[in-house]
Parts: sequence; structure tokens; C-alpha cells
Amino acid sequence: MRTVKEKIENYILVKTSQLHGNGIFTSIYIPARTRILKISGEVISGNECERREEEENNVYIFWNGDDCYIDTALTDKIKYINHRCDYNCDVIDGEDNSLYLISSRDILPGEELTIDYGYDEIYNYCSCVSCDNK
Ligand SMILES: [Zn+2]
Repeated sequence: MRTVKEKIENYILVKTSQLHGNGIFTSIYIPARTRILKISGEVISGNECERREEEENNVYIFWNGDDCYIDTALTDKIKYINHRCDYNCDVIDGEDNSLYLISSRDILPGEELTIDYGYDEIYNYCSCVSCDNK
């Protein structure tokens, strides 16, 4: 049996998405509950997060619990992950001010990786069947 020793992250590609702008896609099969990549970046406070969102239109910030936020604007992959109500990935706690992206179900080669952004406004823009913002 051949085991994948290389990091799964190497098989994650940024491509144009049907959902919005760019998205991240897997070129390999990923079984459910697999750690796909580490989400790390500049660690900032809630106030700084708000400032960057408002003044810099930064939409690449992940909440990491309490007053801790991770700005992924300088990353090359995770910042492009799109929202989908019928998502296939979750974000979980990591060590050292980081988070992990894990698969919430089996994901097939070619599928776009998505998460539930989890903030209210997104459901006003989401174009999926259950949000129905046509
Ligand atoms: Zn939706």
C-alpha cells in the first residue's frame, strides 16, 4: 500500500470558483476528518480585526477564540476558501495561535473546499438553494 507522505497542502490548488472569485480545490481524494492544512498568519486583536475589515476591506481574517484573530491576507491558499452552507470542511483549534482546516466528509478530487463562514451577513449573499438569494 502506498501512503501519502507528502503534505496534502501540496495538492490544494487555487482556481476560479463558480461560487465567488477564486477558490481552493483538491486534486486528490481526502477522507473525512483529515487535517488538510494549518491556518496561520498575523495574530491580531478584535479591534485591529475590525479596523482592517473596515479600512482595508480585509476579508481574510479568521477568529481564533476570545480576542484572538488570524489575518491570512499574506497566505497563498487558505485566504481563498469560499463559504458554502453545504460545506465540506471545518476549522478547528491548532497549537500556537493557529487553526487547522479539516475535511468534514470525504472529498473527491476536483472538488472545491468550502467552510461555513458562520457570520450572519454571509447568508444574505450566499446563492445556495437553502439561502435562496436569487
Ligand atoms: Zn447558503
